[in-house]
Amino acid sequence: MNDLEPSLLIDGRAVAPSRRAEVIDPADERPFASYPKATPEEIGRAVESASRAFPSWSRDEAKRRQALASCATSLLDAADRIAGLICREQGKPVGRARFEVENAARWFKYFAELEVTPEVVHRAADRVSTLHLRPLGVVAAIPAWNFPVALMAWKLAPALRAGNTVVVKPSPFTPIASLAVGHLLASHFPAGVLNVLPGDGDAGDALTQHADVRKISFTGSTATGRRVFASGAPSLKRVTLELGGNDAGIVLADADVAAVAEGIYNAAFVNCGQSCAAIKRLYVHASVHDRLVEALTAIAEGIRVGPGSDPQTQMGPISNAAQLARVEELLADTKRRGARIHTGGERLARPGYFVRPTIVSAIADDARLVAEEQFGPVLPILSFTDAADAVRRANDTTFGLNASVWTSDPEAATPVAAALDVGTAWINQHSAMTPFLPYGGAKTSGVGVEHGIWGLREYAQSQLIDVKLPAPR
Ligand code: NAD
Repeated sequence: MNDLEPSLLIDGRAVAPSRRAEVIDPADERPFASYPKATPEEIGRAVESASRAFPSWSRDEAKRRQALASCATSLLDAADRIAGLICREQGKPVGRARFEVENAARWFKYFAELEVTPEVVHRAADRVSTLHLRPLGVVAAIPAWNFPVALMAWKLAPALRAGNTVVVKPSPFTPIASLAVGHLLASHFPAGVLNVLPGDGDAGDALTQHADVRKISFTGSTATGRRVFASGAPSLKRVTLELGGNDAGIVLADADVAAVAEGIYNAAFVNCGQSCAAIKRLYVHASVHDRLVEALTAIAEGIRVGPGSDPQTQMGPISNAAQLARVEELLADTKRRGARIHTGGERLARPGYFVRPTIVSAIADDARLVAEEQFGPVLPILSFTDAADAVRRANDTTFGLNASVWTSDPEAATPVAAALDVGTAWINQHSAMTPFLPYGGAKTSGVGVEHGIWGLREYAQSQLIDVKLPAPR
């Protein structure tokens, strides 16, 4: 299989598509590959194949665990090849791309090893009630482009472990690595268990509206999430929606600036700021504000920005032209408002979607850069004098994905974290997802959770087996 001109994966086979489209390298703005752009009809064939594969796949748990363990091994064996593809189409530095493949392998290994047993939820002299998990059927898995391989694995591993079959629809911005992973892993599964078909809205609609799809697991923007939710409504599909966010970091007066600056920088500029779990606005106590701005500016100025394929690069380009346009629009608005830009603020004068890491202060809460999800390498820093006021401002958004509190006294800061209206409130860390802890958004940032046993349960129907015991003689 030519990685740069892949076929669809339907029913365990490489299927030549009826149409293709270009993939652009964000580091030079040139097309470097073509991908099979699935039609609604091809999506339909994949769902049929996944439906046929479901009955026998759902019955053999030992086989499923073995298959997931093999996926972890195959991903690690192919890590350099897959990382090269992620780096090329998505832009991140190749070392970070390799880390993403290792992360995907970690999820497969975790779900291969997770013990899942029926849970006795009630026991009395005359009654024993046990909760079992039954697989749902065909799952539609729709990841975003920012971590294409990790997000795909985060859905595949629990969905398959629970006994479902899957049709994955990768983003048209990152189809190449997703298809390479699909074809790589297909040999571990019976035909039809894993199907991969990249495409855009029409393919997405065909998948989420299909009557035989029982569950949708979606990661992407809140706008598309709403549409997907509505598509699933007529047939009451189960949904897990991991959506947009505008994560706040709150730095308390007692924080040690030298100790927290690097962690905050990395959390804000991870993946060029294109992470659902990036710090997207930072509220800093007035007593440490200027020192932290200075420390973050110094780190930003030392970062090597360049093509992800250069091993020296620490931050790659923004992933696609649409996302670059959005970041430039927010930067223009920030400048019009007279906010202070300490470093960065411009696109680099070279081909590729490069913007230097940008630190902004003296900006109002209602500025677009603060109020909206920027999804790019631009961090607005705001000042506060009262922690309760910082919490109120952090919560003043329709989003509710994550937030973090930075402090020298984690115990005293716990009530501050607990007052944040978010799915995950971190203390002295941010963006710290694991396969074994639940992750999901509050408010318009999502529905349900991924990861751990909690995530696995979302790919299953709970079934109560409730037994009346014979009266003792
Ligand atoms: P997006 O909503 O544009 O696209 C997400 C996916 O949906 C893509 O695969 C896309 O092709 C597909 N899609 C588009 N139209 C569709 C339709 N009509 N039906 C079904 N699928 C359709 O989002 P994006 O730009 O790829 O990703 C960025 C967004 O994702 C940000 O808002 C970010 O915060 C969010 N995100 C959230 C999480 C999380 O875990 N909460 C993780 C990563 C990214």
